[in-house]
Amino acid sequence: MTAAFLGIKGRCAHCQFTLELKTWELNAMAINESFACSHCQKSLRLSCPTQIKRLKALDSLAMLRASLRVMIATALLVALVMEWVGMLTGIEQLNFSLIAVLIYFAVMLIARRRQHLTLILQAAKAHTDTFTS
Ligand SMILES: [Zn+2]
Repeated sequence: MTAAFLGIKGRCAHCQFTLELKTWELNAMAINESFACSHCQKSLRLSCPTQIKRLKALDSLAMLRASLRVMIATALLVALVMEWVGMLTGIEQLNFSLIAVLIYFAVMLIARRRQHLTLILQAAKAHTDTFTS
């Protein structure tokens, strides 16, 4: 989960400083909680629905990457076993494995590109006001 959130930045509404967001800060945003800017210590939150949506989309992207990893590993194993039992020739097995690995890297590349986003953070009122607003 931690690796999935690397590369996400947030711009502080108070000091305009661009922060490298940590996992717990991202978790706070996802549940609509406020957190302190690591630069000016003022309260921040993410209240823009579009940005929250993008952040949550990353969560499913991380899931996709994890399941893809399992799928590719299974495909490679199946190809290897098929070669052993004589259903595939060595060349066919190699081609199959190569395609599987290529698909894997293509998806990882797309996932990595989508991950580099900068969130524009909003100023939050005092912590207790978060739920009333
Ligand atoms: Zn700040």
